[in-house]
Amino acid sequence: MTNFDYIIVGSGISGMSFAHHIAKAKTGKSILILDKKDYAGGCVKTLRHEDFWVELGGHTIYNSYKTFITTLRELGIEDKFLPREKAAFKMYKDNSVVPLMSSLSKIEAAFNVPKMFFKKKPGHTVREYYSSVLGKNNYENMFSPMLQAVISQDASDFPADMLLKKRERDDTAPRNFTLTGGMSSFIEAVSALDNVTVYSSTEAVDITTEDGKYVVETHCGKKYTADNITLACPPIFAGKLLANIAPDLSELLKQIPAAKVETLGIIVDKSDVTVDNFSFVIAKDDDFTSAVSRDIIAHDKYRGFAFHFRGDKLDKEAKLTKIEDVLGMDRGAIVASAETIHYSPTLGMDHKGRVAKIDKALENYKSIKIVGNYFGGIAIEDCALRAFSNAGLV
Ligand SMILES: Cc1cc2nc3c(=O)[nH]c(=O)nc-3n(C[C@H](O)[C@H](O)[C@H](O)COP(=O)(O)OP(=O)(O)OC[C@H]3O[C@@H](n4cnc5c(N)ncnc54)[C@H](O)[C@@H]3O)c2cc1C
Repeated sequence: MTNFDYIIVGSGISGMSFAHHIAKAKTGKSILILDKKDYAGGCVKTLRHEDFWVELGGHTIYNSYKTFITTLRELGIEDKFLPREKAAFKMYKDNSVVPLMSSLSKIEAAFNVPKMFFKKKPGHTVREYYSSVLGKNNYENMFSPMLQAVISQDASDFPADMLLKKRERDDTAPRNFTLTGGMSSFIEAVSALDNVTVYSSTEAVDITTEDGKYVVETHCGKKYTADNITLACPPIFAGKLLANIAPDLSELLKQIPAAKVETLGIIVDKSDVTVDNFSFVIAKDDDFTSAVSRDIIAHDKYRGFAFHFRGDKLDKEAKLTKIEDVLGMDRGAIVASAETIHYSPTLGMDHKGRVAKIDKALENYKSIKIVGNYFGGIAIEDCALRAFSNAGLV
């Protein structure tokens, strides 16, 4: 059995941010990161073709939020900051692509928006809060599909104060940006750190303890030991893995649901697509929630798109037909494509109480850490914040 100082299960933004902080603070400590997917990055997956790339998951570092930007700077990849260009938001409804604002009733908005000054988010669901401050029809026709597009599931029953949160900013960085070479450039920078080992296509199936160490068994029967264990995978999987070593945490984690998102990303020659440039196509009442384009970083030859489909609804053939309909193109024009599955946590009104219980229970397990996109919120910055605070506790 090979021994490491730290084993991290999950190589998404959360696991990799945590690894970075440990590598920086505890020089010389060995870190093993395991991921069951055949690539490192989790919800970050960049499809590359020649000098072009498109994202199949997380694509933008929004609002100059500070923690993740600091991590990128510490990794020495500030020269890769690439500001987004502006591109339109569109909606796909009744089988056609239309401007997003055509779904907004300005009269209803003007009547309701002043409520924003006294209506508070805490204690209200997203539907309750935004129906009140935008108007019920504006919420159902435009804002609800917009939020679905952002988190790839219906956000109506989420706590209103857990989405679109304000966080500390670094105003010296671009407001909204990506990275040259795509978001996977971050994953690659962490993977390249000294003493960091990343094994993809390696599922952790069981964690036990032996002689005061954690023993992580993988799907192929290999075992690795460590003094510290960090779960950086969706809560249902973290819950399963903790069943032997922390049954109370395991039960709490298993109660947090997640939506399955099936993503198909494609790259096409520009001349083969008829749809105008866009940033997002937001789907209304459809089997996909959004199409996210690479048009925010123009390229002279290619365009790229990621279609996020609801889980277990369409087979590949039907997905391609949908893509042809939305983009006005033929599948024969696709020069590169890739698929992946994401899990987007579903946060109910009882979520903050669950997180408080998880954090309380964690106090009894000093060498177990849990990071992820289901603590402070779902965005990259939320993952970075949780990883930073938990690495600081080690
Ligand atoms: C389609 C999409 C687009 C998004 N766009 C943005 C955006 O532009 N900006 C933004 O701020 N946020 C965005 N988000 C949110 C953000 O990208 C995610 O919340 C974040 O990347 C999740 O990172 P994570 O490390 O917590 O989890 P994940 O990325 O889900 O990583 C968890 C990893 O654990 C692995 N795993 C699970 N079980 C096991 C096991 N037993 N053994 C080994 N490995 C295991 C999984 O394979 C996975 O790779 C987006 C999310 C999605 C789904």
